[in-house]
Amino acid sequence: MLKLENVDVSYGSIKALHGISLEVKAGEIVALIGANGAGKSTTLRTISGLLKPANKDSKVIFKEEYIFGIREGSRKYECMAPYKIVEMGLSHVPEGRHVFPLMTVYENLLMGAHSHKGKPGQSDFDRVYHHFPRLKERIKQVAGTLSGGEQQMVAMGRALMASPSLLILDEPSMGLAPMLVEEIFHIIEDINVAGTTILLVEQNAHLALEISNRAYVLETGTIVLEGPAQELAKNEAIRRSYLGE
Ligand code: ATP
Repeated sequence: MLKLENVDVSYGSIKALHGISLEVKAGEIVALIGANGAGKSTTLRTISGLLKPANKDSKVIFKEEYIFGIREGSRKYECMAPYKIVEMGLSHVPEGRHVFPLMTVYENLLMGAHSHKGKPGQSDFDRVYHHFPRLKERIKQVAGTLSGGEQQMVAMGRALMASPSLLILDEPSMGLAPMLVEEIFHIIEDINVAGTTILLVEQNAHLALEISNRAYVLETGTIVLEGPAQELAKNEAIRRSYLGE
């Protein structure tokens, strides 16, 4: 469903990603783990078109369409706008949630449906309420007054309004109480079971590896390990560096 090949990304003269390649297959949950500053958010922001690779040999391919790069056999260099990428079925839940604080929960959800050709229907809201019943109770509340966990639910619900086939999540557990972290991870699994493929960036490597099919480990802009999540969870170096053992 998603393929990155040889992706380089720089911020000015500072290189953040050094030719990374990764793949997410339809139906999977794939985790991307790594220390602070490893380049995880940069990877997600490149996938959703917010950052452009520095190198024209880089390729980002989603559902066989080129988000970025030159298609084999062609000279045309593709560089797709972020709103088009959302329309193709890729939604990004950013680190820090970024809900619209002065808008109600309802209005925040509506913003997520801007890629709809027509007006969003009740079924779109029902899909969100199915995973986040608490949002239904708080539909008229101004989002800035919600708890951190509820704001995370709004950010994820807003992304689901676009009915994505691939959901990319940046640190969904950040700043949440342990019980809420468990709840959010269960919901991520449910969203996946309901048919949405997931790419998950997480500091909580333990839980991320527990719910994922496969994982990649990023260190200073380079993928240093990849494999089935259960195998990585047993790996000595991973256990020492990321699982606190
Ligand atoms: P964290 O877990 O702390 O969010 P991360 O793995 O998501 O880390 P990134 O945010 O992708 O890491 O950052 C990768 C590198 O790029 C870091 O060295 C960071 O300082 C740098 N970087 C990120 N954003 C910018 C920016 N806007 N301008 C300059 N450098 C940046």
